[in-house]
Amino acid sequence: KKYVYYFGDGKAEGTGNMKELLGGKGAGLAEMTNLKVSVPPGFTISTEACVEYYKRGKAYPPGMMDEALHALKRIERSMKAGFGDPDNPLLVSVRSGARASMPGMMDTVLNVGLTTKTVHGLALKTKNERFAQDSYRRFIGMFGSIVMGVNREHFEDILKHKKRDLGVTQDTHLDAKALKELVVSFKELVKEETKRDFPDDPLEQLRMAINAVFSSWYGARAVTYRRLYNIPETWGTAVNVVAMVFGNMGETSGTGVAFTRDPATGQRNFFGECLTNAQGEDVVAGIRTPLPVKELEKFMPQAYRDLETTYKKLERHYRDMLDLEFTIQEGKLYMLQTRVGKRTGVAAVRIAVDMVKEGLITKKEALQRIGPDQLAQYLYPIFDAKEESRCTPLGKGLPAGPGAAAGKLALTADRAVEMKAAGNRVVLVRQETSPDDIHGMNAALGFLTARGGMTSHAAVVARQMGKVCVAGCEAIEVLDSQSVRIGTQVFREGEYLSVNGSTGNVYGGDIPVVESEVIQVLQGKMEASASEKYQLFESVLKWADGVRKLKVRANADVPDQARIARSFGAEGIGLCRTEHMFFAEDRIQIMQKMILARKREEREMYLDQLLPLQKQDFIGLYREMKGYPVTIRLLDPPLHEFLPKREDLMVEIAQLELTSGAPTVLEEKKRLLARVEELHEFNPMLGLRGCRLGITMPEITKMQARAIIEAACELAKEGTKIVPEIMIPLVGMVSEMKAQKDLVREVATDTMKRYGVKLSYLVGTMIELPRAAVTADRIAEEAEFFSFGTNDLTQTTFGFSRDDAAKFIDFYKTANILDSDPFAVLDREGVGSLMRTAITGGRKTRPTIKLGICGEHGGDPSSVEFCHQLGLDYVSCSPYRVGIARLAAAQAAL
Ligand code: PEP
Ligand code: MG
Repeated sequence: KKYVYYFGDGKAEGTGNMKELLGGKGAGLAEMTNLKVSVPPGFTISTEACVEYYKRGKAYPPGMMDEALHALKRIERSMKAGFGDPDNPLLVSVRSGARASMPGMMDTVLNVGLTTKTVHGLALKTKNERFAQDSYRRFIGMFGSIVMGVNREHFEDILKHKKRDLGVTQDTHLDAKALKELVVSFKELVKEETKRDFPDDPLEQLRMAINAVFSSWYGARAVTYRRLYNIPETWGTAVNVVAMVFGNMGETSGTGVAFTRDPATGQRNFFGECLTNAQGEDVVAGIRTPLPVKELEKFMPQAYRDLETTYKKLERHYRDMLDLEFTIQEGKLYMLQTRVGKRTGVAAVRIAVDMVKEGLITKKEALQRIGPDQLAQYLYPIFDAKEESRCTPLGKGLPAGPGAAAGKLALTADRAVEMKAAGNRVVLVRQETSPDDIHGMNAALGFLTARGGMTSHAAVVARQMGKVCVAGCEAIEVLDSQSVRIGTQVFREGEYLSVNGSTGNVYGGDIPVVESEVIQVLQGKMEASASEKYQLFESVLKWADGVRKLKVRANADVPDQARIARSFGAEGIGLCRTEHMFFAEDRIQIMQKMILARKREEREMYLDQLLPLQKQDFIGLYREMKGYPVTIRLLDPPLHEFLPKREDLMVEIAQLELTSGAPTVLEEKKRLLARVEELHEFNPMLGLRGCRLGITMPEITKMQARAIIEAACELAKEGTKIVPEIMIPLVGMVSEMKAQKDLVREVATDTMKRYGVKLSYLVGTMIELPRAAVTADRIAEEAEFFSFGTNDLTQTTFGFSRDDAAKFIDFYKTANILDSDPFAVLDREGVGSLMRTAITGGRKTRPTIKLGICGEHGGDPSSVEFCHQLGLDYVSCSPYRVGIARLAAAQAAL
């Protein structure tokens, strides 16, 4: 088996399509080499080798090292230097590279091959003693910490002391002699900490570095990252061993990272950062604040021109926005990495739309490139412009993650997590973030860092998570573990801070956040022509509508929600939960009286009072939906949800008794308490709810059916045609369905006769119980449509209470018992299988039965894909998710 793939001198054994085997970095290096882009020679040890290495209890698979040594010989020939040759040494970098990019999560070792002997060769060869010693001390620091496990800070401390002793501030001010002394101290430190000599044999260094990269696959950071992004543990990482080129050989050398377009906004400008006289990690680590890449033109005009030609060539080849790493060694450009660049959702949309216009990609490709959740970034809030203009920024950093965040300041990742758990909005402020902060970054709405650029860790992670980020804000000085100075003001942990990730401005206080431009246009507060963002958003959705098969409806209970849903392009209401209409101030009183009533006549009296209100609700919904279908569900929740809490009532009663006032109120409360106790259920989710209510108290169903049909009749008289879809909840047996349907039909016939109007309407059910799914053929004898209530169906299939499952689901995910929360992402295996049974059964009896989903899953892209595969007619989701579902439905159809 082949484990090692060489690249160099314009030819590679691998290609860009071999990501699974070579990892992203290895595939990119191979592809660039084949494209005749200037790349230093090297080889990639495959991900399979890593997997084998672990299978064998951390031993190399047979032949791997021989292949590697053979490839190393080829590098030597290409570079005309020898690995370990004291006169003309070859040095290599050893870098990880998994299939999916995991920024900063895994390890890299540079300058492997430097020893007490080769360091002199390097000095001779480069005629630069200082450079050689600098490379050597960097190598010992990096190798010592990453491979040998010495705390990095110990090296930093020694370096800091050295600089202080010599009275210099910058690393670049240390001369060769000082660096040589550092080498000695670093080695002593390694010996002291590890009880081992620093390895002086280049091949031993290489082996140790390869092992370290393999091991980093199970490092704590990589494990957390994989869990966060659902990257399978079984992939393993590749190892790239590449000839070193040096960006730290003086002022005509440098290193940088760049994006072919702006990763935050998507604008078509070459964008990036570089440092002169520096080595790769210096840019990403955010230790020196870098220069814009365009500045290179001044220092190294030829190399900059080459870089421009190269990025254009690569972008045209890959037909996507790329992220590049390069090094310039004495005026000559070398590309060290290319891959499809991470970007914000805002940028993803703009780049896709622009590339269609530029003729680089098709509309279909554009649709495939935009994650539905990236599209959602167009809906992110921004600061209220008026409020923001009144505030003076305390500082300004780089706008690294767009959007606006205001919240309480946390200074460590752990504090951010605690503060979030206590219900706070959190802004995380750090000197610079590192992969160890990932949990805190997840908890915060936004982050602010004192150091680092647009490609620093904080920035990259923010864009990926869709969080707000301002990076490299030099006005920040972390004072101690509890306080920080920003500009002129000192803040303590817990005080409010506002950060604008689109401009880079940082403010004290809690600036109110308002709707995004898209939402403002949709709400008619802004002209569509004035918002470029809205236009981008709309073009993507228009393309999506051209390919999707699924219709998209919204779950909306009141006219306002229906209006938003329509503005997002909803093609109907898939679920109106009528219970929400009874919670309004003027209605809950009547509702409670209805529930308290002992006799049917009394109940009917109160229901008569609710009828006109309910009818107006439906008229409002119908008007907003302008002829689109509206599915109205009859009352579902257990009645006690409309009554006060038992404990609250007991307190009120006790107080009234103490003050011995208002005897009628006291009586009333006591009656209420008695009824509350009567209605108490041990498991209300499986108690008197759903169609069981309408069956035991048919007058409720009658009132609602009448309101639905009367509203439709009134609109019909005005000339608006409505086909109401009346939905019976929580049906488990066809007999339940039949009982409720007969009742609805009776009322409908009677109502239409009274109005002298003939309407079409449907009576259908939700599929929310396993029994309903497996007897769907019977239920379809009565039901004219099915809507999958996957919230309850998930609850009843798993036997997980929807209100209590959060307690253990995270634990289940961590323990790999569940891949994802089944209440968020539809469980295809179990719940999905019941859905399939229900669809087959339903169609058997009623071939044209209309099928939809109205559980929360209707707005989740993966679940939408599954619904497409099942052949449902529509998904119904919350109004704000409608755009996302339209895109997800299109992607499912591609
Ligand atoms: C469902 O159960 O999926 C559903 C849509 O109904 P509710 O969430 O109101 O129970
Ligand atoms: Mg339900």
